[in-house]
Amino acid sequence: MPPVSKSLPSHAQVAIVGGGIIGCSLAYHLTKLGWNDIVLLERKQLTCGTTWHAAGLVGQLRATQNLTRLAQYTTDLYATLEAETGQATGFKQNGSLTIAGDSERLEELKRGASMAKTFGLDVQVVQAAEIKDRWPLVNMDGVAGGVFLPKDGQTNPIDTTMALAKGARAAGAGIFEDTKVTQVLIDGGKAVGVETDRGTVKADVVVNCAGMWARELGRRSGVNIPLHACEHFYILTEEIAGLSPDLPVLRDPDNCAYYKEDAGKILLGAFEPNAKPWGADGIPEDFAFDELPEDFDHFLPVLEAAMARVPALETVGIRKFFCGPESFTPDARYFLGEAPEVRNYFVAAGFNSIGIQSAGGAGNVLAEWIVKGHPPVDLWDVDIRRVAPFQANRRYLRERVTESLGLLYAKHWPFFQFQTGRGLRTSPLHERLAARGACFGEVAGWERANWFAPEGVEPRYDYSYKRQNWFPYWAEEHLAVRRSVGLFDQSSFAKFLVQGPDAETLLQRVSANDVGVPAGKVVYTQWLNQRGGIEADLTVTRLAETQYLVVTGAAVGPHDLAWLKHHIQDGEAVTVTDMTSGLAVLGVMGPDSRALLARLTDADLSNEAFPFGTAQEIDIGFTQARALRITYVGELGWELYVPTECARGLFDSLSAEGAAFGLKLAGMHAMDSLRMEKAYRHWGHDIGDEDTPLEAGLGFACRLDKATDFIGRDALLRQKQQGVTKRLVQFALEDPEPLLYQNEPIYRDGEIVGYVTSGSYGHHLGRALGLGYVSHPDGVDADFVASGTYEIEIACERFPAQASLRPLYDPKSERVRA
Ligand SMILES: Cc1cc2nc3c(=O)[nH]c(=O)nc-3n(C[C@H](O)[C@H](O)[C@H](O)COP(=O)(O)OP(=O)(O)OC[C@H]3O[C@@H](n4cnc5c(N)ncnc54)[C@H](O)[C@@H]3O)c2cc1C
Repeated sequence: MPPVSKSLPSHAQVAIVGGGIIGCSLAYHLTKLGWNDIVLLERKQLTCGTTWHAAGLVGQLRATQNLTRLAQYTTDLYATLEAETGQATGFKQNGSLTIAGDSERLEELKRGASMAKTFGLDVQVVQAAEIKDRWPLVNMDGVAGGVFLPKDGQTNPIDTTMALAKGARAAGAGIFEDTKVTQVLIDGGKAVGVETDRGTVKADVVVNCAGMWARELGRRSGVNIPLHACEHFYILTEEIAGLSPDLPVLRDPDNCAYYKEDAGKILLGAFEPNAKPWGADGIPEDFAFDELPEDFDHFLPVLEAAMARVPALETVGIRKFFCGPESFTPDARYFLGEAPEVRNYFVAAGFNSIGIQSAGGAGNVLAEWIVKGHPPVDLWDVDIRRVAPFQANRRYLRERVTESLGLLYAKHWPFFQFQTGRGLRTSPLHERLAARGACFGEVAGWERANWFAPEGVEPRYDYSYKRQNWFPYWAEEHLAVRRSVGLFDQSSFAKFLVQGPDAETLLQRVSANDVGVPAGKVVYTQWLNQRGGIEADLTVTRLAETQYLVVTGAAVGPHDLAWLKHHIQDGEAVTVTDMTSGLAVLGVMGPDSRALLARLTDADLSNEAFPFGTAQEIDIGFTQARALRITYVGELGWELYVPTECARGLFDSLSAEGAAFGLKLAGMHAMDSLRMEKAYRHWGHDIGDEDTPLEAGLGFACRLDKATDFIGRDALLRQKQQGVTKRLVQFALEDPEPLLYQNEPIYRDGEIVGYVTSGSYGHHLGRALGLGYVSHPDGVDADFVASGTYEIEIACERFPAQASLRPLYDPKSERVRA
């Protein structure tokens, strides 16, 4: 253990709260970047919270590219940490073996293996004989295959944390144990230090790495960190004769179990589907190196399945039953980054049982984020700005985390929907849609109709990597929008009213497009960061001289709102109001949309009177709507914004008149497949803070020559001169059968050049579609894209693909402007 520093300084560049593996890794990485004036404050002793009792598995393959890269970094770090610091870590790279209990799991593993190829992670698909060879104790009944990752391993969590702390301390960081942070000090909306039971430390940046205590500490400063502890179990057997110390870690996700060799014994851990929340009434003040009472009945189903998989467990004794708390989050992903509520208040917490294997990568990128002022790679998956206010609700959290824990080993199904914590945010049309067969999915708490089951069909998902049960109904909705007219409930859109004398100044500063337009114009724009990366992708509609309506996706609402508010300068007279709850949105989309709406309004909907990209207030049915002629599905259509209480009346009017046109209710899955045919980008998938509009093919929405400066302009000008080294391209598989979801590698002339950022099925084009970047260090232009031969790899098999820079559907947007 590193010696404890004595006197608390009055000031530090960064104050880190919490001495688990995350806080120590952050301190270590900050000092690597030359920030040595760091204090780390631990209420008891280092590792005393969750870290000390972790099983210590260090795996590298995660659900997404960047999270896998982070885990890969962790492995590389742990492999050298002992040599660097002189502190033993217990790290060994004995590899890991994951076995598939059925063909769907095998497909998932193979898809993961394909994904891993894009960044050189060694994932080997292995057959039954090799599995038995590597893990002789395993009973192979029902095993369909598996994958082996030779560089995976295991580590000693306490020793590894101590090595990180030692490295940080050696570089100048102060580590203070028995020092409890009682409050984060806030001044003018910024974190300015911490108050502890040993005095105050002023700090430029405060980082909450307080593990399962993080939520409560955040709450005291108005920072929402929705996590909740759950009980987490493993058992340790007596010694098993002949057990090799080089035995790889074995994961048997279909039986919710993992196995690791531990000094001649087997440690069997569980990720059961129905977890037990813990600490709902608060965590005891003196909690340190504590265990929770055993619950053998809860563990028994996992143990029974384990005995079948590893029969040696039937005869060996159990030396230790261990139960300890770990924090889990509503979407089973951790929280990283600057809190949207308070500047200079950073968070790294809620590690969902992968904190040991995530600590290196998370500490590394968070340190860079703090030092440089922005994340070094796209970290949206774990960005704290994805949190919605309602998630602070403790009852919701308690219920949701019962499901989060098991998700680590559950199948990562395409279109997966949570079962718990549902029904929180519903559109005024909810009951009507439910009565018409809606199958709902959840985004940011919103219940949204994803697809509609016809009469006699139960609206529920039968998950698969192949065509799922709702595929035909999805196709019908998609084709109705292409051929006649569909109705979407888009009420979950986040909507912000930006008003005041400086509204235009603010929006011009953040928007790459020109929003200095006449009232009634809808502007599609990106908001960029200083590097030209896309922070938001949305529409800005000018309502009046000093009033704008900003509309963005449900999931990114809190993120985009925080971005906008952060860019209001001192003294600017502008307010931003979240109007999401007040306005429902009905999207009427398709070639017959004009004729349908004409039956309900006296407004002139002709191209001359109501061109694409404009907005008007119109009478419609018995209400008034703000109609925006805009589309995310690539057809003639209008989005109708009405007061929430008027939505049902308008829906009924549209339904009644729509019958003559075969109006079809359409869900979010149809919206997604329609936008994919038209190659409309989706922020968070196809575009993010690492991608510029020039790379994303969105240069048409940037007005580099507009009269006012905007954030990111200089970067774009530079890039325009230099040329880009990646371009977003639309792909369509030649074979109509296979399906694309996300992360599938893209080959150009036999070389991997990128991966699919979003995938769907084009029901009109009749093939699976993908968007993805084609990269090349010497530059990528239209000729480069056109001159290649493309294939996309799905579950280790390559399929020829057509590549296009122009949308494969309606490339001239004639239908949109019809
Ligand atoms: C049974 C079990 C097995 C696991 N196995 C694995 C595994 O194999 N691989 C893996 O990657 N992960 C595993 N994990 C998860 C891993 O242990 C955690 O994700 C990780 O330890 C979290 O680290 P942390 O630093 O966020 O939290 P903690 O270790 O809990 O650290 C937070 C620290 O903050 C301190 N603190 C809190 N409030 C204050 C305050 N106000 N002032 C000062 N200090 C404060 C606490 O005392 C604590 O020490 C396992 C977890 C469990 C329970």
